[in-house]
Amino acid sequence: MSGTGLSLIGAGRGEPGGPTFTGWNPTENVALEPRFHGALPHEVARACQLAEEAAPAFAALSARQRAVFLEHVAEALAGAEAEFLAITPKETGLPPARIQNELGRAANQFRLFARLLEEGSWVDARIDRALPDRRPAPRPDLRSMLRAVGPVAVFGASNFPLAFSVAGGDTASALAAGCPVVAKAHPAHPATSELAGLKIRAAVAACGLSEGVFSLLLDAGIEVGQALVRHPAIRAVGFTGSRAGGRALMELAASRAVPIPVFAEMGSINPVFLLPEALAARPQVLADSLAASILQGAGQFCTSPGLLVAVDGPGYEAFRARLVEKLGGAPAAPMLTPAIAARFREGVERLASRQDTRTCVQGASTGAHGAAALFEAEAGVVLSQGALTEEVFGSCAVLTRARDVVELTRVASRLEGQLTATLMVDAADHECAAQLLPVLADRVGRVLVNGVPTGVEVCPAMVHGGPFPASSDGRFTAVGTGAIRRFARPVCFQDVPDALLPAELREANPLSLWRTVDGVLKRE
Ligand code: NAP
Repeated sequence: MSGTGLSLIGAGRGEPGGPTFTGWNPTENVALEPRFHGALPHEVARACQLAEEAAPAFAALSARQRAVFLEHVAEALAGAEAEFLAITPKETGLPPARIQNELGRAANQFRLFARLLEEGSWVDARIDRALPDRRPAPRPDLRSMLRAVGPVAVFGASNFPLAFSVAGGDTASALAAGCPVVAKAHPAHPATSELAGLKIRAAVAACGLSEGVFSLLLDAGIEVGQALVRHPAIRAVGFTGSRAGGRALMELAASRAVPIPVFAEMGSINPVFLLPEALAARPQVLADSLAASILQGAGQFCTSPGLLVAVDGPGYEAFRARLVEKLGGAPAAPMLTPAIAARFREGVERLASRQDTRTCVQGASTGAHGAAALFEAEAGVVLSQGALTEEVFGSCAVLTRARDVVELTRVASRLEGQLTATLMVDAADHECAAQLLPVLADRVGRVLVNGVPTGVEVCPAMVHGGPFPASSDGRFTAVGTGAIRRFARPVCFQDVPDALLPAELREANPLSLWRTVDGVLKRE
């Protein structure tokens, strides 16, 4: 049963009565069936209460049991490709091939976390055995590990309807940590959200878990999300979206009687630094790959490159000319929602109206379609005007001409927190790159060399985060297995008898985990 337009409250359904809304087909500019009903206040409370009730037993499941559950979710998602293909391209304007890829990625995220749980060492078990004879004071037996924080509110992202939404990385990592999830669907793809929610719910039932492990709330405004973050049962929040939205939720969470963390991924302009030798050697190749990255997905990626910084000199003019050709020749593409398209147009207009910025490309953006835009400014303008480093979500970039490498490095050192920074280098640029790298590593979550920032691998080493405002807490990642740490906290057990300890901390190491025992990492 899908497409009823009602929230999923544990094993039950919401009721009609809240504000209604529909999905939107951005390609054809028409509203879609069915009507969706915003969750009512008592439904938000019920979902949170069910999550709170489910939390202790869910956290206490063995890693193996939770892994089996995650595998069930992965299979349910992967098995629903035809169902997603029937609705998600219509709701998002994204092509079927992208939806297939994203669905595979969403399912694989659940599988990846299942493998992490099976291996088990993510709990970071530390054991400092008692030293009864230590002088002047004996040491007690101390054992710590990471444990689930409790129910997590997940805000689905607009720009990844599958891999970062209801069944996305935030949900997968929270469930993996042992936290029930109450998801807030993004109104840009409500039918996709409902279908993804139904698949997770089916896995909850198939594994005999408590219904409160997962609920899905629908809404087209901010009231439901705010009530969710305010609810005392919620212990942490995962969010992907605008800086304004993330900031509002951070403030709301901090103002609660019991403040909670908000892990908000708010995007960035992902600067690309073109060093002189690379620019001189291959201007067209660099322009081609960056143009493709800027155009990818109509620029609706948090890692889309929005600032290109190049040293004036050989290759600069050829690079700019090719970039103008590629971006100027690209057709306008459907954006996810009319509101996102409108914000894109506003951002482009803002840049086009500046006296200190040259418009190189500004295609006609109409309705829900966005056309690529490219502006050019001297590095001095970027250094003095913060406005040029604000994200314009869509295919829009500012090309910045630096007089020399010193000025290029000054631009790097003025950047606010970013998800990524990219260096385009040849061997002869390495000395300069060596100076830039630590400057960038201070400001970003991921530094790339000779690649493009779009395309975020889901793997243990990935960092998709960065100092504020790229994310609310640069110590964490929203992608990859490290994402689980957002939803767990360390607990230390002092002088607790072996039989009462969690299996992860027992003396005999029954789960065969890698543990730090008396300061030494071992698996015995
Ligand atoms: P958004 O406006 O931040 O909304 C994201 C989610 O948060 C939605 O479910 C929204 O609910 C909710 N929300 C927003 N403000 C809230 C508040 N004050 N209180 C409670 N809930 C709140 O992001 P969006 O709709 O995805 O897109 C808007 C803009 O965000 C884009 O134009 C783009 O600039 C940026 N964005 C950036 C990234 C990135 O990764 N860089 C990704 C997506 C979007 P409602 O929609 O129901 O109001």
